[in-house]
Amino acid sequence: MSEAATLTRKADFPGLVTPEGEVWHYLDTAASAQKPQAVVDAMACALGRDYATVHRGVYGRSAQMTLGYEAARRRVAEFIGAASENEVVFVRGATEAINLVAATWGMTRIGEGDRIILSTLEHHSNIVPWQMLAERTGAKIQVCPLTPDGQIDLGALEALLTPRTKLVSLAHVSNVLGSVLDARKAADLAHSVGAKILLDGCQAAPRMTLDMTALDCDFYAFSGHKLYGPTGIGVLWAREELLEHMPPYQGGGAMIETVAFDRTTYAPPPQRFEAGTPMITEAIALHAAIDYVDALGPDMLFAHEAGLARTLREELRKLNAVTLFGPEESAGIVSFALDGVHPHDLGTILDEENVAIRAGHHCAQPLMANLGVPATARASFGLYSDESDIDALLRGIERTRRIFG
Ligand code: PMP
Repeated sequence: MSEAATLTRKADFPGLVTPEGEVWHYLDTAASAQKPQAVVDAMACALGRDYATVHRGVYGRSAQMTLGYEAARRRVAEFIGAASENEVVFVRGATEAINLVAATWGMTRIGEGDRIILSTLEHHSNIVPWQMLAERTGAKIQVCPLTPDGQIDLGALEALLTPRTKLVSLAHVSNVLGSVLDARKAADLAHSVGAKILLDGCQAAPRMTLDMTALDCDFYAFSGHKLYGPTGIGVLWAREELLEHMPPYQGGGAMIETVAFDRTTYAPPPQRFEAGTPMITEAIALHAAIDYVDALGPDMLFAHEAGLARTLREELRKLNAVTLFGPEESAGIVSFALDGVHPHDLGTILDEENVAIRAGHHCAQPLMANLGVPATARASFGLYSDESDIDALLRGIERTRRIFG
């Protein structure tokens, strides 16, 4: 990405400026991305001028909104290479997507003594729903270890698989280390013993070209707010034949075919899994976000962010006072520790310099335990990031080192 193009991109994001009009060096995109003006505008129009509910109204505005909502579903399907828009379920976010799979597919397909394999680096939202399912069903959770540089060890995964393995659920890209899973290989391994595979695509969807057919996974989950869209919307993709046999998640309006006190029948997927008035404006704004990202090209974003991560790692290494976690080649996410400085103190001092990083366990406490630290500092890049953000971070780190002597 050329410098000029990057600067143009920054100008598209109203959130990258402080209330005082200063540049804000936002390095927390892995937690949530800033939104381009096009998304803000789409949301404002959907909530204002165009607003009406979907599916129920006989009036034109409602019919228009229904078209907009369903167009968003088609756009998501196209963006992720789904075979059909019926495979796209709108949910609140990745967390809800994973809980939905655990509560529906999991409760009907997983039983006592069955195995669910996760990895050491999973986000809590890809751990806790499975623990809750295991408690209810008597299934067992197994943890696939990491390679020394922080990638999910597929050799170890292969060794863990048995015919009792019913599900493998892994992060496509780690939110802490930026490690990228060979997802197709993981899917092939899971399928070799008849298990299903869920990929947590929260960090992959904003920076990688996705193709559900090529990945050959069974479930894929991601959140709109990390993909430059609004909060409150996410996507569960699942193969149509799996969705068809899954019971509903929540009961209510919009997910039924007929309701009577003696018997209710359910709508086909995806409506079966979308009880209640859906996230109408959020879906329409997510459509705008996908248009924005797709116009740039996810592969280009990956290369841009991975390049910034490489540069940051090189610069941090030169300080001789930093521990770097994770692989050398990462998807735009760099976790580190500055000698003698708690990540929270670093984050607080950087904030005074208009630099926003994340400090903490990043909802990955088992990974922190594995790394032997309570927390890390994490800088994560987005499509609007550039070297000026790295320079600001390095200046802030120098100042922190001076303060801490
Ligand atoms: N998985 C990963 C890898 C994540 O980074 C996140 C968000 N930090 C989640 C799951 C949960 O996403 P959400 O909170 O949007 O549901």
